[in-house]
Amino acid sequence: MSHTGSVGGQPGAQRTTDRASALSEPTRAYAELVAGNLRFVGGAPRHPNQDAGHRAAVADGQHPFAVIVGCSDSRLAAEIIFDRGLGDLFVVRTAGHTAGPEVLGSVEYAVTVLGTPLVVVLGHDSCGAVQAARESAATGTAPSGHLRAVVDAVLPSLRRAEAEGVDDIDGIVDIHIAQTVETLLGQSPVLAEEVARGRCAVVGVSYRLAAGVVRPVAALPAGFATLDAPARSTDPATPATV
Ligand SMILES: [Zn+2]
Repeated sequence: MSHTGSVGGQPGAQRTTDRASALSEPTRAYAELVAGNLRFVGGAPRHPNQDAGHRAAVADGQHPFAVIVGCSDSRLAAEIIFDRGLGDLFVVRTAGHTAGPEVLGSVEYAVTVLGTPLVVVLGHDSCGAVQAARESAATGTAPSGHLRAVVDAVLPSLRRAEAEGVDDIDGIVDIHIAQTVETLLGQSPVLAEEVARGRCAVVGVSYRLAAGVVRPVAALPAGFATLDAPARSTDPATPATV
């Protein structure tokens, strides 16, 4: 897939802590997220790195192993659904995970300055921003205020869905997630370069609000394939308990 990247994981010289070294490869970082989501879905979260001792330990510096570019939806709290704690995730959230300049700059900061090896675009079913854009397109009316900027940013995904014959809301959401991955790579040469060098990967995942499970939206880069199975095995197609 053109919007995903080669991976290989070359630890950066500045990543010196044991944990950062262990999670400096994109595939390992993704595996950690999958494992945490499985704990959350199974009702057995461990709440790692949320204690006072860890809080003090990370006060002097951060080495997050994943950037989450997620929707602002209040039911999509990254540290909860991936069962992680302080210093683990660099989270950037906007309605509909729209990716303007500030979002791109934030992602570039995490990847190039902090050495974060994985960027995850996190969307979800029944996304209100996608629904708002759909209604706006259907009625030919634009929302007032700055909400229009959100809708305008989602419209290209709607046009792509229409061209592909996809008209159900969750199918459109999947396309919008893939579109956001492509936007990040297309609008950020800095990020694209990191991916081309194998130091970082960008993936898109979709979250199910009721089941709590995430699943890859697009084909994952080589090396991620074996991690696909456990995530899909708990897809709502086989009911999960939450
Ligand atoms: Zn949303």
